[in-house]
Amino acid sequence: MTSSRIDQSVAVEDDPPLLLPDEDYLQGPYYEGARLPSPSGGFLMVLGVRPIDEGSGSGSILLECTASSLRYQMIVPKATRSERKKVRDMIDDGSDPKCPRHRGQFLTRIRHDLACPMCGVRYAKAK
Ligand SMILES: [Zn+2]
Repeated sequence: MTSSRIDQSVAVEDDPPLLLPDEDYLQGPYYEGARLPSPSGGFLMVLGVRPIDEGSGSGSILLECTASSLRYQMIVPKATRSERKKVRDMIDDGSDPKCPRHRGQFLTRIRHDLACPMCGVRYAKAK
């Protein structure tokens, strides 16, 4: 007898995540740390956050639906000019910079940039 659990996880890994049809609507609750309703019922759990590519500055969030186990990708828009300025001001003040979108979330260094581990967006160059 083969284990169906293993077969299932292999199948899921092979499927590319679906793009969320209404990601703009989900970004507000995501920044607030609220539960995200899934398009296929249930809720979306965060599986991982990563910056997209070096040049874009946007973030990508991998989500899994609690009801259907479908995986979705949410693209988080890159930092605006005023968000970058906020972060630069925090650095200039000598404090540890926080994400302008996530309350109380510190930025972490990813290669040459300071990015938010919750949204994957780069907000400043690391020194
Ligand atoms: Zn963030």
